Amino acid sequence: MDKITEKLIRGNEQFVKKVNSNKEHLESLDNLKIKQSPAILVFCCSDSRVIPEYIFDQFFGELFVIRTAGNVINEGELASAEYALEHLNIKYVLMMGHTSCGAVHAAVHNEKGRFLDPILSRIKINVGETCDEKEASIKNAMAEMEYLKDKFSYIDGVTYKYALYDIATRVCKIY
Ligand SMILES: [Zn+2]
Repeated sequence: MDKITEKLIRGNEQFVKKVNSNKEHLESLDNLKIKQSPAILVFCCSDSRVIPEYIFDQFFGELFVIRTAGNVINEGELASAEYALEHLNIKYVLMMGHTSCGAVHAAVHNEKGRFLDPILSRIKINVGETCDEKEASIKNAMAEMEYLKDKFSYIDGVTYKYALYDIATRVCKIY
């Protein structure tokens, strides 16, 4: 067996034995067997360092999470958001960008990809001429939040926020 598979299995064993969990209420997973009713929709980057459940110290069943490179909304993400807002009746949406984002970096530097271009060009439109990558990540998150807000404007009572998670300090600033 390869090392990564072993590592994953070992990690899962730890999880099952509750050794690694900082939560003591794994028993509450039983309550989630039939249905979920998360209160928060978090939209964030696929970056391996950006894990909302860790960042916000949330447990299973608490966050409905949609992730794409650069936290950009495409067709599938829009469909997932519709499910979250219409069927799970989530009333709080957080669009979270982060520092050191590869997608934002690529867009700011006008890089090209094979399949990445729709994401990169969209980020480019969102950030305009901004060269500062942290500033660009904030602008990108704000623009994507506004896009989502506009798409689902027919649903009342939803709070929309955007945020920047700082990988270096681990602080997430919510705007
Ligand atoms: Zn990113």
